Amino acid sequence: MLSDMKAQGFRYVFGPVASRRLGRSLGVDLVPFKTCTYDCVYCQLGRTTARTLERREYVPLADVLGEVARKLETEAPPDYVTLAGSGEPTLYSRLGELIAAVKDMTTIPVAVLTNGSLLSQSSVREALLEADNVAPSLDAGTAEWFQRVNRPHPAIGFDELIEGLVAFRQGFKNLLWLEVFLVGRAPALDDEVRRLAGHIERIRPDRVQLNTVARPPAEPWATPTPREDLLRYARMLGEHVDIITDFAPGKDEPRGIGGADEVLALLQRRPCTLEDLAEGLSVSRLEVLKHLEDLRGRNLIELELRGGHAFFKARRN
Ligand code: SF4
Repeated sequence: MLSDMKAQGFRYVFGPVASRRLGRSLGVDLVPFKTCTYDCVYCQLGRTTARTLERREYVPLADVLGEVARKLETEAPPDYVTLAGSGEPTLYSRLGELIAAVKDMTTIPVAVLTNGSLLSQSSVREALLEADNVAPSLDAGTAEWFQRVNRPHPAIGFDELIEGLVAFRQGFKNLLWLEVFLVGRAPALDDEVRRLAGHIERIRPDRVQLNTVARPPAEPWATPTPREDLLRYARMLGEHVDIITDFAPGKDEPRGIGGADEVLALLQRRPCTLEDLAEGLSVSRLEVLKHLEDLRGRNLIELELRGGHAFFKARRN
């Protein structure tokens, strides 16, 4: 029984989850929770706990590949194997080897969701060359807004970020989808978007995906950009622009995936692992983690170790 339960356990691979951008996406998480080069004010995982530039093998490559292989053997094929997760995947030092090994294993395309901050390093650009789809972010037109919204590691400069994106595009022959995540509203954002358009002209992505806050952000002042502003900004950013956010009907308030209450409701019926919750709610386990932290902070749930697995359950009074 115990070995059966362990055999089912996945530490680094989650899903497949439904993704608006990538269809059914099998997620691969390469760094510990909130290990990132940025501390974005809109981050749905909360504030960054480890803001770093250190590239290393945070999790064992062989274990990650073993889990990917096991998932691909047992599940219906996803649309993408996506390197994303609870932090910045380009911090993983063996990224190039990982992508090559996944591509040896399957014909399912590999996508990488990155904040783009390390593309100024030629070794990171090289590591990504074999990916089928790289989706970096660019949320600011100026260094000032970059500092305010992305709160990067002090060694990351805005000009280097732009030059890294331009250099990557020059060498990368597959799909490059640039995500622009906007916070706030017109008219304050108008100049940012105008300048962004200039950078995008140089970067030449295949698509631009415009997004805004739809889930509870790290900082309450990170408010969504209203739909009418997004539509106008999409036109300003040129051709090939999609708006990918989900709008809450009739209001611009941040909206949860169902929220902590939905997680609590499930736990009140049965103890669940993180994976149970993510699958049950059809969301990524990263989103679930944020709600679990909130519920634990409010002393509404507790953790129980059973059969080598961590189960969350609602506290009974
Ligand atoms: S949104 Fe992405 S890049 Fe920004 S802090 Fe969160 S994980 Fe890092």
